[in-house]
Amino acid sequence: MSGSSPSERLGLHRSLLTNQLLQAAAAILAAAVTSFLGQIQDVTLFVSGAGIVFTCAAVIVLSPRDRLPSWIALAVPVIDVIAIGLMRGSAPVAGIGLLWAFPAIWIGAAFGIRGVIGVTVAVSAIITYQAFDESHRVAASTFVLPFTLAALATMSHFATQRTRAQRSLLEKQSAELRRSLERARRQEDLVTEVLDAVDFGVIHITPGGEFAVSNEAHARLQAGTDAVGPSSAVFAADGITPLESRQTPFARARAGEVFDGELVWYGMPGEDRRALNVTVRRLRPRDGADGGRVVVSRDVTAEETALRAREDLVASVSHELRTPLTSIIGYLELALDDDRLEPSTREQLEIAERNAIRLRELVADILAVSAASRHGVGFALQPAPADLEAIVRAAVTSVAPRAAAQGIEIDASAVRSCPTVVDAHRLRQVVDNLLSNAVKYNRRGGRVTVTVDREEDTVVLRVADDGPGISPSEQGRIFERFFRADAVRNSTVHGSGLGLAISRDIARAHGGDITVATQPGRGSVFTVRLPHKEGAASWSSMS
Ligand code: ADP
Repeated sequence: MSGSSPSERLGLHRSLLTNQLLQAAAAILAAAVTSFLGQIQDVTLFVSGAGIVFTCAAVIVLSPRDRLPSWIALAVPVIDVIAIGLMRGSAPVAGIGLLWAFPAIWIGAAFGIRGVIGVTVAVSAIITYQAFDESHRVAASTFVLPFTLAALATMSHFATQRTRAQRSLLEKQSAELRRSLERARRQEDLVTEVLDAVDFGVIHITPGGEFAVSNEAHARLQAGTDAVGPSSAVFAADGITPLESRQTPFARARAGEVFDGELVWYGMPGEDRRALNVTVRRLRPRDGADGGRVVVSRDVTAEETALRAREDLVASVSHELRTPLTSIIGYLELALDDDRLEPSTREQLEIAERNAIRLRELVADILAVSAASRHGVGFALQPAPADLEAIVRAAVTSVAPRAAAQGIEIDASAVRSCPTVVDAHRLRQVVDNLLSNAVKYNRRGGRVTVTVDREEDTVVLRVADDGPGISPSEQGRIFERFFRADAVRNSTVHGSGLGLAISRDIARAHGGDITVATQPGRGSVFTVRLPHKEGAASWSSMS
């Protein structure tokens, strides 16, 4: 009997108490029946035995429930065994020996196999002793009773063992559960702390469109935005196009949309306004159920303001450069018209003219880029019906002298007639840029192939060269503004890194796109895809 925890001690007391009360009740019943049947031979002995049984029950009733001394737990059943022996001795034919079942069950449960052996030996000894008394007849019960009691005690022992094992398993499981809960709580605290420590807003939107978890930065950033309530002034990325309340990022996120890095302005132009970069991602479904969405917002007011200031400065400087440049080029052309020029002076003036023209192209590129970013999505187009073939052939003719100078052959034999609706001037810019790159970055004696084709409702223009190609690490960046590959940056091939960025803006403004497929050492293929439009111009306000 090693019950040591308070709950085990309480359980021990409860089972002993139940055992004793039932035993006392059985003793009362036995006393009543045996006295009614007149089977009591020695009343004094019987009353003493019964009295001891009741006293034991009273001791257990009165003993403290949570501090039952272990000697009482042992002594009470031992005394019971003797008391029942006394009652049995005083009424040999009444079958009082059955009452031993109560202490036997208790002893088997509380003291294990040693208890089983002890109670069996004690009962057998009493029965044997009483068998010598001539008032006891030796009967089958003389042998069966100790055996039955041993069996009862053993079963009680094993049942108790099983219960203990189950309880200990349950306790282990509940301890594990407590630990898991504690871990989950700590994890949640950690996530909350981490979320609160970062300076971008994070908010969870439930599948039903409710705002759930959010962090401190979110509360800070969203003050005055549509994330916390209706907000009057919300503008698109260009800062001037007003957004309706259902078009704002948070309204779209609540409606179930998912998007990446959308810029939105809060506050009227000219006032104290805030630019947020908002990304909405879908959370992984859990157990097949929609996990909702998470919205991450970042305050990019400082970056956007600096970016705009830089673009404005570059645009205004470029604008200021354009007039004097035009004048310089005009005067240089005039000067070169003079037949009396010394050859060396002519050569110098030609170099000056070439560089001035390059400078003018650069200024034009910069102005085009800054115009595109001011319009937010691209260029203001003036679409009109045009044949792409004519545009491409004109561009090929114009680049042909430069190609010939490097021994590069331009193959335009697969250019098909392709009437469509485009801004011919802008598209010529794209073709010029792709052809000039294919020649500029090609090897001497290389080959350039241009094709124009229709693929269902798409017009496809391809410019392929067999030059050095572009390294994998740089392929993703060549459409960025001012990007030039390492291989050409320090070479004598001039460029601003703006041509492809402008070309892509133009293609996108037409509703198309431009892509590159390239293999280092084997060349590049630039592909422009534009939606095919027939008949009258239909993008009169595309910007
Ligand atoms: P630029 O030609 O003025 O440098 P672009 O925007 O037209 O600017 O091109 C960006 C960069 O992409 C170039 O500097 C060059 O490194 C690379 N590039 C463009 N076209 C080709 C090509 N056909 N072959 C290899 N590299 C190319």
